[in-house]
Amino acid sequence: MSDKMEFQTEVRELLHLMIHSLYSNKEIFLRELVSNAADALDKLRFLSISNPSLLPASSELRIDIRANDETKVLTIEDNGIGMNREDLIQNLGTIARSGTKSFMQSITGEAKRDVNLIGQFGVGFYSAFMVASKVEVHSRKAGEEQGYQWTSEGTGEFSVDELPKEKNGTKITIYLKDEDDCKNFSQDWQIRSVVSKYSEFVTHPIYIQSKEKTERLNEKPALWRQSAKGIEEKQYKEFYGLVSHEGGDPLAWSHNHVEGAQEFWSLLYIPSKAPFGVRYASEQNRGLKLYVKRVFIMDDCKELLPTWLRFARGVIDTEDLPLNVSREILQSNKIVANLKKHATKKILDTLQSVATDRKEDYEKFWVELGAVLKEGFYMNWEFLDELKNLLRFKSTKGSDFVGLEEYVARMPEGQKEIYYIIGESLSAVQGSPHLEACKAKGYEVLFLTDTVDEFMMQSLQEFKEKKFHDVALGDLEFEKTKEEENAEKESKKTFEKLCEVLQKVLSEEVSEVRITSRLKDSPCMLVRAAGGMGAHMEKLMAMQGMEMPKAKRILEINPEHEICKNLLQKAQSGDDLGSYPTVLYGQALLAEGSVLPDPSAFVSAMNKVLLSK
Ligand code: ADP
Repeated sequence: MSDKMEFQTEVRELLHLMIHSLYSNKEIFLRELVSNAADALDKLRFLSISNPSLLPASSELRIDIRANDETKVLTIEDNGIGMNREDLIQNLGTIARSGTKSFMQSITGEAKRDVNLIGQFGVGFYSAFMVASKVEVHSRKAGEEQGYQWTSEGTGEFSVDELPKEKNGTKITIYLKDEDDCKNFSQDWQIRSVVSKYSEFVTHPIYIQSKEKTERLNEKPALWRQSAKGIEEKQYKEFYGLVSHEGGDPLAWSHNHVEGAQEFWSLLYIPSKAPFGVRYASEQNRGLKLYVKRVFIMDDCKELLPTWLRFARGVIDTEDLPLNVSREILQSNKIVANLKKHATKKILDTLQSVATDRKEDYEKFWVELGAVLKEGFYMNWEFLDELKNLLRFKSTKGSDFVGLEEYVARMPEGQKEIYYIIGESLSAVQGSPHLEACKAKGYEVLFLTDTVDEFMMQSLQEFKEKKFHDVALGDLEFEKTKEEENAEKESKKTFEKLCEVLQKVLSEEVSEVRITSRLKDSPCMLVRAAGGMGAHMEKLMAMQGMEMPKAKRILEINPEHEICKNLLQKAQSGDDLGSYPTVLYGQALLAEGSVLPDPSAFVSAMNKVLLSK
């Protein structure tokens, strides 16, 4: 006797949408049916713990897929928990699931939007009707004798009939629609490709039965779900190739299983070389693979990683999200935010242990990707301490890298601050006159030559209560003895005239001319008032098309230098300084690695000086 029943109203609406919307991602129906089958196997295994007779030791829990290209019929069969008559009516006639319910609630009359919504949600069993003109579900519940068959064409009604079945479990038969993008699913290769995309790591074996043979489709274990104790280094490295599509070995990895309020697994890799494009494009190829209960959900899930860790690769597999999780849910979800925090912390911890235990490897990583990591300083507040410890610099103390910890540890007595200089390249900063004062004192100066450094230094205020100080600032001041102070006062008076004259001639270029005791070898340098924009920053802004009115800097001259002494004489005797001021200003720019605003004017001024007797 055939028992016909009507679908619940919501199901009818859902099916209507499913059948009539031009939905492009039809393949996900297979993901949904395979994961339903896997759930049914899990449920049976769980029940058999208390009732062993449900699962004879000899039987393998498995999923079998058959695709018949002649009849255009696809079957997906499992030997799991199965369903009886009530289950079939309840589970496949109504909507009880929260995911589907919220999907239904978000449906509006606008067909276009609704099509997108289906893409975001994926809607379980009913998605079979995207490709099927008819679906049969033949099932027998484990522990019961009678089998039943549920049948529907996806329109208003379904029927449930008694139909003997030899074993427990469920066999879903899909009569594929005649359209090309539906009947394709009767071909082996299509099934293989969809299963390997979404269901590669499902625990239970998935077999495809073709005419000649039976073949297992999911051979690879979900490495991240295994206990770290049993995994060899070789396996981790091999898996890195799978998830990253990068050649070579990773720098390090972090494998975690977290239980508690949430349960998830993560396997995170740090590459030893910058993946292509990562250094520049902050939005591209970022993110981890997201799995829910071993089922693949998406690649490059941006919500799981901050942009400044975009070089990391790997997998997060959570028990706590629905399979049909949408983009919108990901963006505002507490579980996802927690996964992101976990990933961030673990990657930083892993980098720290590489930095501690494998110094050379870490420095290689730093050269490749340090500049990306530095973006973290102005993009987050939470992990600043961890980030500070990961910084490495070249400095005035030799060619080795130094970290802040080491810098502070080797500060000589009397040094109170951490000194740094920002510039375009190592060669530009290495010869800068701004270093002379620190060098004379034996104070180490850090070289900052990455584009991001200007921005980083705005958030990097202190380390271990030591403030950072830019040596190109005019307020750099060291402790002085009484004699030094007196000598300075003296030469200030002596050089008053020269400063005055220079300031008049260079009034377009500088805001002030004054003497300094901080120069040793150079005749002069340009410094800026605290808060003013650095020369390098000005250049960056100009590159972004944000030309700013240039903040004038202060020209400081060295009273001990012969050139300055000569000029003083000229000024005192009322001589015209001629081209000297232009040359002085120009060489201050050149020495710090800046570009001359008018090179030909500088050259002709210099030639005049060379010719003068
Ligand atoms: P979901 O799997 O998200 O709950 P579905 O619409 O895919 O939603 O399925 C509805 C219900 O039907 C499932 O919760 C499950 O109880 C039952 N079901 C579906 N497929 C099977 C199967 N192969 N074996 C046993 N029960 C199944």
